Amino acid sequence: MPATTAFQFDNTYARELQGFHAPWKPASVPTPQLLYFNRDLADELGLDGALLDSPEGAAVLGGNVLPEGAEPIAQVYAGHQFGNFSRQLGDGRALLLGEVVDRLGRRRDIAFKGSGATPFSRGGDGKAAVGPMLREVLIGEGMHALGIPTTRALAVTATGEQVRRERLLPGAVLTRVAASHLRVGTFEFFSSRQELERVRQLADYAIARHDPDLVGTPERFLALLRRVAGRQSALIAQWMNVGFIHGVMNTDNMTISGETIDYGPCAFMEAYDPQAVFSSIDKNGRYAYGNQPLIARWNLARLAEALLPLMVEDDSDEAVEAAVAQATEVIDAVPGLYQAALLQGQRVKLGLTTEDDALDAGLADRWLTLLHTQGVDFTLGWRRLAEAAEGDDAPLLDLVKDPEALQAWLGAWRERCAREDGGVPSASVARAARLRRTNPWVIPRNHLVEEALAAATEGDLAPFKRLLDAVRRPFDAESTAQARFAEPAPSEVTACYQTFCGT
Ligand code: AMP
Ligand code: MG
Repeated sequence: MPATTAFQFDNTYARELQGFHAPWKPASVPTPQLLYFNRDLADELGLDGALLDSPEGAAVLGGNVLPEGAEPIAQVYAGHQFGNFSRQLGDGRALLLGEVVDRLGRRRDIAFKGSGATPFSRGGDGKAAVGPMLREVLIGEGMHALGIPTTRALAVTATGEQVRRERLLPGAVLTRVAASHLRVGTFEFFSSRQELERVRQLADYAIARHDPDLVGTPERFLALLRRVAGRQSALIAQWMNVGFIHGVMNTDNMTISGETIDYGPCAFMEAYDPQAVFSSIDKNGRYAYGNQPLIARWNLARLAEALLPLMVEDDSDEAVEAAVAQATEVIDAVPGLYQAALLQGQRVKLGLTTEDDALDAGLADRWLTLLHTQGVDFTLGWRRLAEAAEGDDAPLLDLVKDPEALQAWLGAWRERCAREDGGVPSASVARAARLRRTNPWVIPRNHLVEEALAAATEGDLAPFKRLLDAVRRPFDAESTAQARFAEPAPSEVTACYQTFCGT
């Protein structure tokens, strides 16, 4: 069986949404070679991994040979970028090859990124470099291992071609798997052109795909908005609880599915600081760590505007007012949804299994204040609660400048835990185990990601493979062999660390 038959495509987007995309072909590349192939993901997708993980597969995954059943298209979208509306964006260097239904019955997009210029490239070359595509692998797999909804990398194929950035870099094509590539910006594209019927078609498509229980229901467009608001609130809360900074939360990078998408200038925070921002293009800190919940709400308000005409029952002023009021209510509920999801996550991260509405939010807030004022590494600070639960505060004390402030907080935490435990002696052992399952030891640390990508760019994939292996097991027992993956960067490095969108 040839690799070209590896996918069982069923392409609803191409078929049902005429006028929402341009049929296009991937560019041919000189010498496609697989740098990375995700066998487990291939298996999950019901693909024959062995067939694709081969030179023949590389020809498919590099774009030279179209797999059977693929109908490659460039999707159109618009988007608010750093707050400014761009009415014409779209896949400028990506192509949706098609959709497959995975082993669990979930429809997943198979798409290329870096497969050459399209009608939406706006002067860009449509290409991608090895470093940024392997970055999608490292961060995406790290997020997945942390239990955070994300698009995933099936493959990265070196093209054998050089791409021109600040300097010449080896080129690559990413094969990305997503629940869909529907974005807030996809809706904005048609709504900004007053193409109301297309907005409706798109919304019904999104509902069928992501919220099938709403199909055909009378208030489904409002319900869709509510669902997306719920998914995004939960997602951002998860980001915040692992210190993830997306870096470019434009509306074209916000999915309807609730998956994290587009790992460009993203970074994990080290010392806890709500104002942390790493992206070199984010001059005003719009997408700083602490702003992410606000930006999510702002983006959801753009989705609400796009969907609003669909919610209006007739032309009367009353109907318009009613729709506006309902959509506004959904958007106004976002901070509450987010706070609830955040607090729920924080409780788990504090090792709590019960809810105390009078105490928990304050306990979590004071903990974060402590991490902030003491300059504690966000990941290790949480992780060291496991030893503290076992009665050993020393590892946590090692991370702070002011032991008294920490002791005071630990006292309050222990009281809260004791109330929950009701004197059961084994409770602290169980708590420590839970804490180690929820607070990662290893995250994709920025300096290690950079180190791995720099080596890969020079042709040495060993550091990338080692780091990938580590970030896929974030909660593993701590070992001296893996210790370097858990250590924060030297503070001099973090102080001037910047991520670039030059992808
Ligand atoms: P991103 O920042 O990756 O989310 O991309 C924003 C927009 O710029 C999208 O419409 C991309 O397709 C487009 N884009 C980014 N890089 C390139 C490139 N090298 N060539 C063409 N279009 C690009
Ligand atoms: Mg994007």
